[in-house]
Amino acid sequence: MIGKEEIGSIIEKYDKSKISIGTIGSHSALNIFKGAREEGFKTVCVLTKDREIVYRKFPLVDETVYVDSFSEIVEDKVQEKLRKLNTILVPHGSFNAYVSMEALLNDFFVPMFGNRNLLRWEIDREMQRSWLQRAGLTLPKIYNSPEEIDCLAIAKFPGARGGKGYFLADSPKSFRKKAKEMIRRGHLSKEDLKGMHLQQYVLGVNAYFQYFSSVIEDDVELLGMDKRYESNVDTIGRIPASEQLQLDLNPTYTIVGNIPLTLRESLLPEVLEMGDNVAKVSKEIAPPGIVGPFCLETIITDTMEIFTFEISARIVAGSNVGIGTSPYAYLKYGEGMYMGRRIAKEIRDAINKNQLEKVVY
Ligand code: AMP
Ligand code: AMP
Repeated sequence: MIGKEEIGSIIEKYDKSKISIGTIGSHSALNIFKGAREEGFKTVCVLTKDREIVYRKFPLVDETVYVDSFSEIVEDKVQEKLRKLNTILVPHGSFNAYVSMEALLNDFFVPMFGNRNLLRWEIDREMQRSWLQRAGLTLPKIYNSPEEIDCLAIAKFPGARGGKGYFLADSPKSFRKKAKEMIRRGHLSKEDLKGMHLQQYVLGVNAYFQYFSSVIEDDVELLGMDKRYESNVDTIGRIPASEQLQLDLNPTYTIVGNIPLTLRESLLPEVLEMGDNVAKVSKEIAPPGIVGPFCLETIITDTMEIFTFEISARIVAGSNVGIGTSPYAYLKYGEGMYMGRRIAKEIRDAINKNQLEKVVY
């Protein structure tokens, strides 16, 4: 794995007065680019032709590096271009979806905002679970095999695929039936089933909390929250039960967008402490811990219990609901603060304090 010293020596050669902020043109790129611009940085977009229209209609990009597929970001000539532009890359969900994690960890010599060491903890389900448990969070129960299913369970598949292919089952038998059906409908392959993760399905509403852990300020900030808008689970309730049965409808969880959320204020103490504790444990398991954005993905039940089913230790697309401002960012910063800008501000503050090496890895 690429060490801090290697990235440090690349950053040392960068012209600090000409730093650009770059990312892959998708997911939360507009959020990141707008924030970078507002903090006075140039922007670099690694882009495929089919998505060009987005950055023409929303002109926030100074330099475009075209690729045929996002996975080419790790190719030497792309890396070279990025370094030449003094780029600090901000990773987001499309990195997980389209770029090889091994290549990012071992062969990618472009400084990235955030702590690369935490990626290992994030992508390994067991490690992630022990991290969140150490932070005192409540987690859904795990089933090691479909045979163990004894109440409603959700089957999930690896990678940030935005809920594609997930399904529910309440017994080993219904699991086998559903899995077969998902494969037949082309939502899943047999190969996918090998990497499956089975969790207790928690009945409640989903709530995603967006935090920012600042190494410069030594604090964890709550900047926003959202809930998911997923096809088709978010529309099934609009169809009467009799038709649902007739059609043999199964919910699917393909993410289509995000909806802003504010929370009962009485839930805030727990949500704020959860963020602090997760960041604190991250310092113990992978020093210096989380650098920048992270998101706790939760289900809140009717008894106000908060179950955390996942953490993303980077910017999430749900923070796009806060572009411009979100209620929680507003409470701390006033107008014009949001995740993309908060990242750029941290980079700006680090440059001003001559501490850039603290935020890039
Ligand atoms: P895309 O570039 O849209 O294919 O997205 C890259 C990855 O991020 C995919 O795995 C998506 O499922 C996930 N993703 C994209 N947009 C969102 C969103 N608004 N909320 C959650 N996940 C998303
Ligand atoms: P994810 O891709 O992990 O963000 O989850 C996709 C969808 O599944 C979201 O609507 C979540 O609310 C839902 N979900 C994930 N895990 C659970 C769980 N353990 N219990 C209930 N719903 C869940």
